[in-house]
Amino acid sequence: MSKFWSRTAREAEPYVPGEQPSDVNVIKLNTNENPFPPSPLALEAMEQSINADLKKYPSPTADRLKAVIAEREGVDVNKVFVGNGSDEVLAFAFQAFFDPNEAIKMPEITYSFYPVYANLYDIPFQQIPLQNDLSIDVEGLKRSVGGVIFPNPNAPTGLALSRVEVESIVAHNPNQVVIVDEAYVEFGAESAISLTKQYPNLLVTKTLSKSHALAGLRVGYAIGDVALIEGLERIKNSFNSYTINRVSLAGAEAALADEPYYDETLQAIVKTREWVTHDLEQLGFWVAESKANFLFVKPNGIGAETLYQQLKARGVYIRYFNKPGLEGYVRISIGTDDEMKRLIDIIQALIS
Ligand SMILES: *Cc1c(COP(=O)(O)O)cnc(C)c1O
Repeated sequence: MSKFWSRTAREAEPYVPGEQPSDVNVIKLNTNENPFPPSPLALEAMEQSINADLKKYPSPTADRLKAVIAEREGVDVNKVFVGNGSDEVLAFAFQAFFDPNEAIKMPEITYSFYPVYANLYDIPFQQIPLQNDLSIDVEGLKRSVGGVIFPNPNAPTGLALSRVEVESIVAHNPNQVVIVDEAYVEFGAESAISLTKQYPNLLVTKTLSKSHALAGLRVGYAIGDVALIEGLERIKNSFNSYTINRVSLAGAEAALADEPYYDETLQAIVKTREWVTHDLEQLGFWVAESKANFLFVKPNGIGAETLYQQLKARGVYIRYFNKPGLEGYVRISIGTDDEMKRLIDIIQALIS
């Protein structure tokens, strides 16, 4: 606390990201990064972009990147917004679409950045408990006073709603903006993007951080009705004209164009997820049916916090959330096959 802080700074409750250890030998399964490197074509494009043009500002409208995204997602280019990571896109969306006097709805267990933004912008929120099977309560998210936000697949459970279920939430909030955060959708869930043609209140956000192995680049985007995109542009242009730098623009454009590389790496991650799920279940652990690049796991024969600490002591970082409702679980990102074999070996030794 400092006497120099504004009321906003005093009252903020910042998000706490997973640890980023500097030791290169650590097996990092704690922040859902992609275990593969980015596309070689994306790396090459970024290297090429490091030239004298860096003296100039980047395009404030990022038109080329928007065109690549529009083509990939099958939407008109004026339905695309891009930002410096989807976290920034989400922050802008909270400001653009949610009001301080109307409570928004979100799941009780979900991406913990949502309550952080709500607090920062003074937006009241109602947290809807998950169902007994840990899935999102679709009925509970209908008829919101303010808007609605949820990830699909949800984090940290990895459980996904079907497109029909997402549509029913959108259809039952016709006068509110519903934000569907599809940070993990490429790992096997159904995207709601096609619904944006029909529903002017639906905003879908995506990121290159997980599926495209570019967490370090910070590029995310949103798809929605033209009026929603204009709302986001109004907030963005009241904050920073150049949110995406030249290197990021080049890298993101080339990455999205390299579909064969990402098809292959995404498939490999899904395959690893399936055998790791099976092996953990063989060890007696409960594992949620993940459609993401991580597993939400209830250990058996060892406490969740102990498992986290024992793995950390052996150089394997996973995520433990010391929060009500989550104490019994850990979240494990899908690494390479070798990393996951090492994880299973250590767990086996710990519980026997
Ligand atoms: C990782 C993540 C994000 C943020 O992604 P960035 O584009 O890296 O900011 C947003 N939502 C969820 C649910 C995430 O897990």
